[in-house]
Amino acid sequence: MEPGTPRTLLEAVTFFADPDRAHAYAVKARWPNGVACPRLGCGSAAVQALPKRRKFRCKECKRDFTAKVGTIFEQSPISFSKWLPAMWLLANTKNGTSSHELGRALGVTQKTAWFMLHRVRQTMKDENPVPFAGEVEADETFVGGVSRTSWQARSGHVKLQHGPATGKATVFGMVQRGRDGKPSQARAMLVPNHKASSLIPRIYENVVPGSTIYTDALRSYRQTDRDFVHDFIDHSIAYVNGRVHTNTIENFWSCVKRTLHGTYIAVRPFHLDAYLDEQVFRFNAREDNDAGRFVETLKGADGKRLTYAALTTTHPRWRLRPGRAARAEARRRMTQSEPIPGTSDRI
Ligand SMILES: [Zn+2]
Repeated sequence: MEPGTPRTLLEAVTFFADPDRAHAYAVKARWPNGVACPRLGCGSAAVQALPKRRKFRCKECKRDFTAKVGTIFEQSPISFSKWLPAMWLLANTKNGTSSHELGRALGVTQKTAWFMLHRVRQTMKDENPVPFAGEVEADETFVGGVSRTSWQARSGHVKLQHGPATGKATVFGMVQRGRDGKPSQARAMLVPNHKASSLIPRIYENVVPGSTIYTDALRSYRQTDRDFVHDFIDHSIAYVNGRVHTNTIENFWSCVKRTLHGTYIAVRPFHLDAYLDEQVFRFNAREDNDAGRFVETLKGADGKRLTYAALTTTHPRWRLRPGRAARAEARRRMTQSEPIPGTSDRI
């Protein structure tokens, strides 16, 4: 960690308020061993600083560059004085930060704040996840507004359905229980449904064969019996049987849902992965302190890019077609001119 890294939000805001100091901090964090040209195929360390313009000039390729080139901040007119406190907030607020709150706090529009937060989420994403081993709990959950079918189910009219049929998105998650002195680690992703064909490949991608997997009694998981030690707990009978339970991941789901319902209110399915990345990051770094989580987030900024166009056009990973209930709901909102959830996470 950089010497002089703030330890509290108050210290961070004061420290980064000076644009030169914030800029110097970001430069040092990105290039701890001295500034190098970020242009592809150059990487020259023969660099002249242009401190007044907060730029650098490469003596090799004779081009100017800023500390933002080649990072998540690229082409952003927002200064590091605002970016770094924004990062601090998202890394450390347990239930997330709404774009309305951040916009007011920084003096930028809600739209700008929303785009900033999405870029910070991108930095939190673990690009090269190490496969889980040991004892792993796997479970799926459904995220979305209260669907029409759920009150029908309560009143006994219709059997309760899950997944896309109700307009809810299916989220699959795994938790590696604490091992080697490390606390339990979570991982979560959007999946098309809770069929074996959607869940089993995710388990093979994320868990070392031979590990122990604990699930509920969902039939989809039975296919893991071949390559894993699989034990399941039938929740209609009991919730815990010795070490066989899914309570750790249930705890993680409750964090996810508190954030989604309490702070973000309405999230479009194709943005859901980003919100999951954010929650996974904070959950996995929960034993670190605020400064540690902030430094970890800033580290992820290098070599990543997220443009507004990429964020707002339909996500390639979004292969889910909204269910009939969701489409009907969207049509209803459209005709009644209510705000459509997505960019609005008013709090
Ligand atoms: Zn160069």
